Amino acid sequence: MANWQWAIAGGLTWGITTATALGLPAAALAQSTAAATFDPAAPSTQLQVVYPPPDHTTGADRIFFIGTGDPGQAVLINGTEIAPRSPDGHFAPSLPLAMGENLFTLTQGETSLTLRITRVPTEPQPPAGLAFGAESLTPAVATARPVGERICLSAIAPPAAQVTATLGTETLTLLPQPDLASLPPNYAVLTAQNDPSPLAATPYRGCIVPTARGELGQPTYTLRRGGETVTAVAPSTITVLPAIPTQVATVTVDSGTARTGPSTSYSRITPLPRGTRAAITAREGDWLRLDYGGWIRSAETTVATAAPPQSTIRSVRSRQVPGWTEVLFPLETPVPVTVAQTPGAFTLTLHNTTPQTDTIYVPPDEAIAGLHWTPVLPDQAQYHFQLQANQAWGYKLRYDGTTLVLSLRHPPVIQPDRPLAGITILLDPGHGSENDLGARGPNGYTEKDVNLVVSKLLRDALEVRGATVILTREGDEDLFPGDRVDIINAVEPTLALSIHYNALPDSGDALNTAGIGTFWYHAQAYDLAVFLHDYLVRELDRPSYGVFWNNLALTRPTVAPAVLLELGFMINPFEFEWIVDAGDQQTLADTLAAGIEAWVRQTP
Ligand SMILES: [Zn+2]
Repeated sequence: MANWQWAIAGGLTWGITTATALGLPAAALAQSTAAATFDPAAPSTQLQVVYPPPDHTTGADRIFFIGTGDPGQAVLINGTEIAPRSPDGHFAPSLPLAMGENLFTLTQGETSLTLRITRVPTEPQPPAGLAFGAESLTPAVATARPVGERICLSAIAPPAAQVTATLGTETLTLLPQPDLASLPPNYAVLTAQNDPSPLAATPYRGCIVPTARGELGQPTYTLRRGGETVTAVAPSTITVLPAIPTQVATVTVDSGTARTGPSTSYSRITPLPRGTRAAITAREGDWLRLDYGGWIRSAETTVATAAPPQSTIRSVRSRQVPGWTEVLFPLETPVPVTVAQTPGAFTLTLHNTTPQTDTIYVPPDEAIAGLHWTPVLPDQAQYHFQLQANQAWGYKLRYDGTTLVLSLRHPPVIQPDRPLAGITILLDPGHGSENDLGARGPNGYTEKDVNLVVSKLLRDALEVRGATVILTREGDEDLFPGDRVDIINAVEPTLALSIHYNALPDSGDALNTAGIGTFWYHAQAYDLAVFLHDYLVRELDRPSYGVFWNNLALTRPTVAPAVLLELGFMINPFEFEWIVDAGDQQTLADTLAAGIEAWVRQTP
C-alpha cells in the first residue's frame, strides 16, 4: 500500500480500544496480532473489524468493512448476513453511505460491534443564505506577481449575485464560472472513479493586470443580491513585484523539489541540483516561482538580491568513471535543468543558457550511442542523447562548481547462463514499526510483517541465482521513505524493488478487487514494471490489477530502474488467504526471482 493510503490506515489500532468498549478481551486481541504465536493463516475465532475505525469520517459514497469471524457462524451487518466470506471467515462487504451519520452494527452470536461512519461533502458547498463560501476567498496565502502579469481573484457565492473585489484603488467585477467541473483526487484512478463531476457551488472569478509595483494588501469582496450586501476580506495579501526580478534563489539541498505550481498538489518536474541559481518571478505562500517556470519551496533555497542569472555554454565533453559516463557542461553559473527520458533516449535542457558552442566531444561508449544538440531560442540549450539500447540503467545530476555533471549509467555486464551474477538488487520491504503498519488484513495481520517475510524469501531466491541482495530493513525498523531513497542512492543497486501489499480508498470494491499491481515513474523503469506484472500474472495465474505510472518516493530514484510492487490486496478476504499462506509465499518469491532473472537475461 503506497503512501496516499497511509492516511486511511492510520486509525487501525482502534481494534483494541473498541474491543474493550465492546467487552472483548482487549489484552488477548492486542497480544493476538503481535505475539510470535499469531498465525495469520489460521481461521478466526471471534468477530473483528479492522477497518473502518469505529468513528470514521469519509467523503466516499460507500464504505467497505474489513474483518473476520468464526467461519462456522454467520456474521450479520445491520441484520443482513455477510456473504461471501472466505474459508477462514474473512469478509469485506461494501455498503452505501448517506450524507451525514450512518450507524452499522455487526453481530456474530452474542458479540456485536457498532460503528459510526459520517459521510461529508468532498467539495465546497453552496453557502447558506447571502454569504461567501467558507475559505473560498483568494488569496489564501501571500501572493506576489510581477508588473504586467495577470492576477486573478475568486470566491464562491450564491448564484445570480453581483460580486466585486476591491484591490488597492481598483475594483473588479467577478463573473460566475458555471461550466467548471470538479476533479477527484489522483488516487480515484485506482478505483476507476476519476471522472470529473459538476461543481456543487458557483465560483466567481475576475482578473487584473497590474501596471505598477507595490503592496495591494488584502482584497475586499462585496456580494450583492436582492438589495442586500455582504462584504468580506480575503485572508492574505497581494504584492506586485518589479517587472525585472531583483531576487535570486540558490538551491541549498542536494535535490530541490521543483513543481509545476505552488503546492505539493502540483506535479513534480526535474529536481534541481544543489547550487542551482535562478531569478524569482513570483511567490505564493512559502513557494517561489523561478524564471524558467518551475516552483520550489523557499525552505530549499537561500534568497539574495542580484540580477537574473544567465549563462552561455561553449564546449561539452564526456569522461569515463567506473560504471558511468559523466558528461560535463561547463557553465558560468548553475542554471535550472530539466530532463526527459524515453526508451532509448535522454534529453537534457539547460535553461537561461545561450549557446556559444562550436565543439563537442562525446564519443560513443557503453551508455551513449550519439549526442545531438539544439539551441532553443531565446535561452535554452537541448541535448538529445541516443542511448546504446532502449533500456537505460540510471542517471544522476549534480553541479561541480558551475559545471553540470550528467552521469549516465553503463549497462551491467550480463552472463547469459547466470544473468544475476554481479547484479545488485535492492529490496525495500514497505512500512515497518508500530508507527507505520501499512495495510491490514481482515484478522489484523499487518502489511509491514508480510512485506518483510516475502522480501526475505525473495532475497534468498535471488541469492541462489547469483545476485547480491540488499534489504532496506532486516527487522521491524521505522524507516521513512526518504531514508529508503537515501539507501538506494548510497548503494546504487542495479535494480531497486519496493515490496508492498495493497488496499483501496473507501469507495473501492474490496471484495472484488485483487491482483498484481506494479508502479513506475521514470521511463527506465517502465519495461521492468510491465514485464514483472505480466510474468507474475501469467506464471502464478494471479489476477491483474495493472501497471501504473505513479509519483511515489520509491519509484522516483533515478540511480537505477526503481519499481514498486503491490503483490496483492490485504483487504480482499480471498486474496488475503493466498497472501499469508507460507507455501504460496515461497512460490511467489521463487517466481518473482525467476521473473527478475528472465528480465535481466532478455534485456539487451
Ligand atoms: Zn504498502
